[in-house]
Amino acid sequence: MSVAAKVSPTGTIKDLYDLGEMPPLGHVPAEMHAWLIRPDRFGNPMQAFQKEVVPTPSIADDEVLVYVMAAGINYNNVWAGLGIPVNVIAARNKAGEPEPFHIGGSDASGIVYAVGKDVTNVKVGDEVVMHCATYSRDCKWVKSGGDPMYSPTFKIWGYETNYGSFAQFTRVQAQQCMPRPQHMSWEESASYTLVAATAWRMLHGWGANAIKKGDVALIWGGAGGLGSMAIQIAKAAGATSVAVVSGEDKIDYCTKLGAKGCINRKEFDHWGMLPHWKDGPGYAKWLKGVRGFGAKLWEVLGEKRAPNLVFEHPGETTIPTSIFVCETGGMVVVCAGTTGYNATVDLRYLWMRQKRLQGSHFANTVQANEMNQLALSGQLDACMSRVFPYEELPLAHQLMHDNKHPHGNMAVLVGATEYGQGINAKAPIPMAHPTMPKDDVHTTPHPYPMAMPLPSVAEAEPVTIADDGTKVGDLMHKGIIGCAPTDTVGQVAKTMIDKDIHAVVVMEGDKAVGVVSQTDMVLARQGRTADLARGTLVKDIMTPGCATCDVGTLLSDAVSLMTGRRMHRLVVTENEKPIGVLSMTDVVRRVLAD
Ligand code: NAP
Repeated sequence: MSVAAKVSPTGTIKDLYDLGEMPPLGHVPAEMHAWLIRPDRFGNPMQAFQKEVVPTPSIADDEVLVYVMAAGINYNNVWAGLGIPVNVIAARNKAGEPEPFHIGGSDASGIVYAVGKDVTNVKVGDEVVMHCATYSRDCKWVKSGGDPMYSPTFKIWGYETNYGSFAQFTRVQAQQCMPRPQHMSWEESASYTLVAATAWRMLHGWGANAIKKGDVALIWGGAGGLGSMAIQIAKAAGATSVAVVSGEDKIDYCTKLGAKGCINRKEFDHWGMLPHWKDGPGYAKWLKGVRGFGAKLWEVLGEKRAPNLVFEHPGETTIPTSIFVCETGGMVVVCAGTTGYNATVDLRYLWMRQKRLQGSHFANTVQANEMNQLALSGQLDACMSRVFPYEELPLAHQLMHDNKHPHGNMAVLVGATEYGQGINAKAPIPMAHPTMPKDDVHTTPHPYPMAMPLPSVAEAEPVTIADDGTKVGDLMHKGIIGCAPTDTVGQVAKTMIDKDIHAVVVMEGDKAVGVVSQTDMVLARQGRTADLARGTLVKDIMTPGCATCDVGTLLSDAVSLMTGRRMHRLVVTENEKPIGVLSMTDVVRRVLAD
């Protein structure tokens, strides 16, 4: 058992207390120490975070003021410090909040010091941990029993809201407070809620596909923040999990947490977007890779079973594999796209085998509390890898910014004066505290902020696009080199080579009905002899339809069309009649060459 933080020795009532000098219980000083981000120092964490003294925030009737003992570190506040992709301070000022600064921090442990008049679930003196889902209790959707995670008022505490946990006091909604596991130190208990609650909703939040005894779960990034929680949650549900990792040195860590075994993703190379479905050999190669991955899964499991749940967050590079290996009727549940957002799906596997691709985001109050029961019962290790003193809060974020932080969850002391304080009870059940291999650091690309207005719902500031007003007509090549649908591939090949062009427009009268690109020509040769391919008709191999743009279209819009559809050229029309072609080569010449 260890000592709690030092209570102010004289028990004196003051307006400001030193860090680690605990005010008498229930006394809220007028001011507090905090790490602040201000717009004039947006940038790297070492520059963005500065220590200041500010007025202690007041609370509303449904709110609670918590004296922070330790705070968890998450990537969100690296973004907040950079001021991108959203200036959270400007966004709040626009919404009517006056403070010209941001106090971050979306994970914490602490002691309740004041409660609003409507608060019934906690009282002054309670030791709590906090989840980061906030929403207005007056929201119509929430009042009618809807999931608060879908409320238009939903906000992430300590990122979208001010007065997070990087201060002596934090302002939270009462519903965010949950009992603190007494067998954990202040810093351990401050470090797990965000990732564990997210993993809980992913695995337990989706109706018929929720994890259950006997299920198999495939967990990407098993040694990462989310993955390490998912392994333990799956274990507690009586399911078997197989973790994916990038090195043999992480296998022991994942199996100690409860995984049956691991797959080393470095043994495979079929990652990324799916090959084109018309590309027979490319697709066959991909299938070979993904089947090899599936075989490895069976080997680790010791039986030929497909996972009922796939726990996804890498996104673009892994979704095709996740969907392929998932059991018929199973679910791939995804909460991030760390490697990219344009994930490709072979719809045949999705509809024929009736799989579900489900998005998931943080967790609601009920789910966070269900997760916390697991922590309270001793079945969830916080997987805290590193704790920092208060002074090093910017450094902890800087390490994260530079991808030099260890795997697992990190925390910083705030009110606690030494590491290891706050352990008031024995662990309810014996628990292994696996540690990651020494010198382990991240290689994960910088994750997207947890909350960010998406274009359709954005209240973000307008984006200014640099555009010099160039029109497609200023750049295109006049004239169309075309062919008829009934021409042969051999004839088109000759045209392409003679004229040194990359695509031919398929014309029916004066209407463009398709395009034959070099890619189409090469694909036509697959599975056919050269003679057979040459004799094949254009209409059988062309890409039907024709991406067109009007001669008066802005060049920037035409480029968006091409990049969005991954095409290299557009047919240019005037009064709906094809008159020329715009190619990416023309664009490069214009926008990049001297
Ligand atoms: P993390 O601790 O960095 O772990 C991510 C794991 O992904 C790494 O351990 C790494 O493991 C694996 N990984 C990296 N690159 C990969 C690749 N190319 N293919 C497959 N696996 C790869 O991060 P985290 O805390 O688990 O969070 C993961 C993502 O979820 C982040 O983007 C985070 O922002 C997001 N997130 C979302 C929510 C939400 O509510 N929506 C909540 C929390 C986190 P190996 O190298 O060992 O394979």
